[in-house]
Amino acid sequence: MTESVKCLIIGAGPAGYTAGIYASRAGLEPVLIEGLQPGGQLTITSDVENFPGYPDGSTGPQIMEDIRQQSINNGTKMIGGLVTSVDFSKRPFQCIVNEKTTFLADTVIIATGATARWLEIESEKKFKGFGVSACATCDGAFFVNKDVAVVGGGDTAVEEALYLAQRSKKVYLIHRRDQLRACKALQERVLEAPNIEILWNSIPKEILGEQQGFIRNVTGMRLANTVDHSEYTIAVDGIFVSIGAIPATEIFKDYITLDRNGYIKTKPGTPFTNIPGVFAAGDVQDPNYRQALTAAASGCMAGIEAERFLTLNADESNETC
Ligand code: NAP
Repeated sequence: MTESVKCLIIGAGPAGYTAGIYASRAGLEPVLIEGLQPGGQLTITSDVENFPGYPDGSTGPQIMEDIRQQSINNGTKMIGGLVTSVDFSKRPFQCIVNEKTTFLADTVIIATGATARWLEIESEKKFKGFGVSACATCDGAFFVNKDVAVVGGGDTAVEEALYLAQRSKKVYLIHRRDQLRACKALQERVLEAPNIEILWNSIPKEILGEQQGFIRNVTGMRLANTVDHSEYTIAVDGIFVSIGAIPATEIFKDYITLDRNGYIKTKPGTPFTNIPGVFAAGDVQDPNYRQALTAAASGCMAGIEAERFLTLNADESNETC
């Protein structure tokens, strides 16, 4: 099956949904491919207190549901599915969804975001899904009144630790340095939490656990001190890895210029990629701010530029990064 569209948006986070709002209102009748995790990373975030418009804060899933609904109300057509390959070598741009539906798009907005980064140690693979997780909101309920560890020192790790501390008996926050990367407000809260202990200068070496047939469960973690290189173990029932994210750009790399960390290169302050008519918005092109709000704002810019591109006549446009 082949479908022609004026604007195809790939990715269903704040950037993609906001691009949909603007592209719809510009009459581009956008189609948005929602991927495997509609709502993006915010759907695995518990409390959100810094998204404007929610004076008392809200939850990530609620905010995303609101933006999604606003996008639909303005006219964005949502399609469940995964873009499996693209061909940006000629116009219209070709994007294949679920290996069967071909979209021929006059403009494309890439808003695929980023996925969880893992520690990449052998034992992590063994216990992933059996006590090792990247999402406290999703899996925290398994560890009520138990001891858990969160790895990382950024905003996400600290938020995960605070969330888990409300349910679990004890939370270890494991950080590889002696200073947290998280913002000051979160640092203060984590330092005050009575049942959170920060293990400074520590990196996980091995996740310890038991296996009986297909059943596996975590029992602890072996850590190394980064200063004196000594090793020690802690007993925990669950481990949450919150060490940042990797931009989801694999399927675009043959056409779109990426930086050395895999983020899409855009012309500063714009959503322009190296290909006129293909725009990028949100975390997939932002190694710096990576906020839901900045993602939404860049989605807005991409929606506006998609309209300009089509209005100005694609062949005249030379705006690339
Ligand atoms: P991040 O800021 O990149 O932090 C990743 C953390 O993991 C850092 O502390 C880093 O240590 C550590 N780390 C990285 N690789 C590691 C490894 N292999 N082993 C051990 N530790 C490792 O990622 P994030 O916390 O997911 O945040 C991403 C972005 O989203 C940020 O811009 C953040 O501000 C934003 N965010 C905002 C909010 C909010 O405002 N409410 C909530 C969540 C996220 P180092 O510090 O030593 O590099």
